[in-house]
Amino acid sequence: MYNSKSKKAEEFIDDGEIRRTMDYARDNKENKELILSIMAKAEKMKGLTYEEAALLLECDYEDVNGMIFDLAKRIKKKIYGNRIVMFAPLYLSNYCVNGCTYCPYHFANKNICRKKLSQQEIEKEVIALQDMGHKRLALETGEDPVNCPIEYVLESIKTIYAIKHKNGAIRRVNVNIAATTVENYKKLKDAGIGTYILFQETYNKEVYEKIHPTGPKSNYAYHTEAMDRAMEGGIDDVGMGVLFGLYGYKYDFIGLLMHAKHLEDVFGVGPHTLSVPRIRPADDIDLKDFPDAVTDDVFKKIVAILRIAVPYTGIIVSTRESKKSREEVLELGVSQISGASRTSVGGYAEGEEEEENSAQFDISDNRTLDEVVNWLLKLGHIPSFCTACYREGRTGDRFMAFAKSGDISMSCQPNAIMTLKEYLDDYASEETKKNGEKIILQEMDNLINKDIKDIVAERLAEIDLGKRDFRF
Ligand code: SF4
Ligand code: SF4
Repeated sequence: MYNSKSKKAEEFIDDGEIRRTMDYARDNKENKELILSIMAKAEKMKGLTYEEAALLLECDYEDVNGMIFDLAKRIKKKIYGNRIVMFAPLYLSNYCVNGCTYCPYHFANKNICRKKLSQQEIEKEVIALQDMGHKRLALETGEDPVNCPIEYVLESIKTIYAIKHKNGAIRRVNVNIAATTVENYKKLKDAGIGTYILFQETYNKEVYEKIHPTGPKSNYAYHTEAMDRAMEGGIDDVGMGVLFGLYGYKYDFIGLLMHAKHLEDVFGVGPHTLSVPRIRPADDIDLKDFPDAVTDDVFKKIVAILRIAVPYTGIIVSTRESKKSREEVLELGVSQISGASRTSVGGYAEGEEEEENSAQFDISDNRTLDEVVNWLLKLGHIPSFCTACYREGRTGDRFMAFAKSGDISMSCQPNAIMTLKEYLDDYASEETKKNGEKIILQEMDNLINKDIKDIVAERLAEIDLGKRDFRF
């Protein structure tokens, strides 16, 4: 029986309720009046229910689909401006005791080289990342209580925050590790993590159990209830996602929004971010085994409707998407992207070629961070290396209140300008620097508050003199 406030996975993600919602969407897909009334509600930019979002996803009317894309773009512009926050994943260990059928790290794969970084190797990786200009990382590990215990993750976080190479610093460490206990989430919170990220992969229990045949991850309820435990452990910024293509995308789209509603109803705050990975080819993984893989058009529509349904939740795309695909979804609502990612353990310091037989996924966008930054600038976006909110205590419901009041742009915009300026002074090529300085001038003009504008102008001059880490 569906109950969004229940703490039991099978009640807050109820198969019957998802299927009822899918039927409702299918039965009403030609009810234009109803669809237009949902679009009118969406125009208020306060979000939609999973039922309303499911109907928009089902809708085939070309003109309405045009309206959906147009509104997604307007919401993106109004709430996020042209800022795109940059991050990089850092793979610490690919030992894994699970048997996920879609991931090459599954324990039975003997083709990949298993590796766990020592603290000295982590230091090398982090220096390589800092030398590119990264300030925000997402730590990734496989699940292995013996080779990769929580103590190792905590020690690694401490190592990462302590490294200051030249003007570099990692200012926010997000963590994507396997579902764990409330006690371990408390430890992660105390270690100063930003967002705890965990993908559900699929919300369909039967399929979930089939593609997770062995290992602790095979426990659907334990995995699905992980965000509740994380929040009970004090982590109030959580990042969710599904791996689109494992099962029917309509089912998982509804499941994702249902999960977001559950967190909102129980803890008063939904997810901080949603990630939208799609199943990709990799070693030992054949796309023919995944007939539900989503097309580019469906992918774009999913991003656009998520933007409309949860306007204040960040949307992340990774380098698994091609340059072309990322370009299209950026304007539809994506607010964070990874740049120059390596999905192998040790891939930043050693280079991916040497390490490629330990990579988790093939990457579709292989450009350097400087190339990605320059590409964003040329498209008129401001690449932002901002990490201010969590460092200023703006997390969880405080973040959401700040975001919904609209005050957030008073911070995001100047922070984007200042962190871009740091990047240009420390790491950019001549061409990127030229394009970046041009955007900074333009964006300074767009700062409406005169006091803030004066402060930013002063700080930009100080950054030129070598000072770093200003923030609002
Ligand atoms: Fe292990 Fe995660 Fe890959 Fe599953 S998805 S095999 S848990 S690394
Ligand atoms: Fe993100 Fe906060 Fe920085 Fe805005 S001010 S970009 S919300 S960290």
